[in-house]
Amino acid sequence: MHKATRTLVNENQVLCVESLNITGLLKNRPLAKAISDAGWGEFVRQLGYKAEWAGRQLVKVSRWLPSSKICHGCEHKVERLALSQRCWHCASCGQVIDRDINAARNIRTAGPGVA
Ligand SMILES: [Zn+2]
Repeated sequence: MHKATRTLVNENQVLCVESLNITGLLKNRPLAKAISDAGWGEFVRQLGYKAEWAGRQLVKVSRWLPSSKICHGCEHKVERLALSQRCWHCASCGQVIDRDINAARNIRTAGPGVA
């Protein structure tokens, strides 16, 4: 985790993350173990202090941004998207959307405007 956060801080001037409600997510039993194992809170904490030391900008995007559900290509929003659904097909522009890559693009787009 230290190596990954150091690399991210070294290679980027601005880092955008989603401010996930970790405490709330941990109450979701099926997700709790995966979230605890991943150490998301600690990852963001390390990004935060390392970014500050290096004079980088860490932007936390609202947890309410539906980053997974909005097509990055055309901004069409799906109303429902089960967590198990890792890819979806945009009914508006026809793209096949990878959930995580799409969310990352939406967070990057939203990020700099938040600060
Ligand atoms: Zn689309």
